[in-house]
Amino acid sequence: MKPKINEDECIGDGICEEICPEVFELQDDGLAHVINEDPSEDLNDKIEEAIEECPTSAITNEE
Ligand code: SF4
Repeated sequence: MKPKINEDECIGDGICEEICPEVFELQDDGLAHVINEDPSEDLNDKIEEAIEECPTSAITNEE
């Protein structure tokens, strides 16, 4: 998977980081960022969960 975050949609609640800190990180700008552009397949379930749980649907999968 290649997760991306739409910064215009992110409200910085950190849910994605709670679910999958290997890939998502809240940074100093108050928004979540993808810190692993090429995550291993064993993280797919957690990435999908983060996509589903994001309250603003800011996370998409580009692959
Ligand atoms: S779950 Fe969605 S809104 Fe919340 S920090 Fe992550 S990308 Fe932003």
